[in-house]
Amino acid sequence: MQQFNYYILDQEGYVLLTLKSQFFATQDAAFNSLRPVLNAVRKQYGNDSATLAEVTVGYLDQISLAWECVNCGQQNTLGDCCPECAARECDRCDTTIPLDEENTPNSVFADFRDAFDDGSYNVCNDCLTPIESVELMGRE
Ligand SMILES: [Zn+2]
Ligand SMILES: [Zn+2]
Repeated sequence: MQQFNYYILDQEGYVLLTLKSQFFATQDAAFNSLRPVLNAVRKQYGNDSATLAEVTVGYLDQISLAWECVNCGQQNTLGDCCPECAARECDRCDTTIPLDEENTPNSVFADFRDAFDDGSYNVCNDCLTPIESVELMGRE
């Protein structure tokens, strides 16, 4: 059993936090135990690309990509689903919308709606109708 040391780094490699794990038999177990801490730090800093890196004597061994996507198996820093699988397609033009940039009825309209008037749900910026754009700007 041993303790493992980790840094939490932002996307430019700056250290946000240094961590020491509890005693674990394997590095993997230690790493998994610190995932909730990484999630908390990501929330606190509003930085989803913060990563957990193991500190070995004197230097950084590797910047570990913390998660495997449950959908495609890709290693990624976002979580159980990688950015590609988490991205939505526009219901009006079928292009893939960058993660978190989709417009939904509830991001556009103040009152709760299951769908836009035409039945679509995820809509890219280009496909918003003039009325929807105005609503959206009114909320921002
Ligand atoms: Zn994926
Ligand atoms: Zn579209």
